[in-house]
Amino acid sequence: MKPIKINHVAIVVQDIDAALNFWEQTFGLKLDHVEDVPSQKSKVAFLPLGESEIELVQPTTSDSGLANFLEKRGEGMHHICIEVSDIDATLAELKSKGVRLINEVPEELPGRKMAFIHPKAANGVLVELYQLTENN
Ligand code: ZN
Repeated sequence: MKPIKINHVAIVVQDIDAALNFWEQTFGLKLDHVEDVPSQKSKVAFLPLGESEIELVQPTTSDSGLANFLEKRGEGMHHICIEVSDIDATLAELKSKGVRLINEVPEELPGRKMAFIHPKAANGVLVELYQLTENN
């Protein structure tokens, strides 16, 4: 496995516009874009910061894992995303090491492939894996 960098740190929020206000005003970050991710029942905003990004995530339905997380624990850190060069190879390697995965097959989204590792496998932290793809 070749981890490249922390691609982003994600924060779950109730209201993406209010949260954007804080991150833009307080740190002078600039919004790159807001994206609907129907498969994850969420809306995400990306704010580049150096080599990484802050990702604000808002659930768009009340019946997702993300919505449950927000309901139960309130706003806060949701996951960190580690960028790798080959997500399929990484998942295969993790699987062979017995690491518990949420997604055994990566999901393809515009510009990236992604998968989650179970927080129980990673010291209580939800870890997302990203591989950037050409159309990024
Ligand atoms: Zn993420």
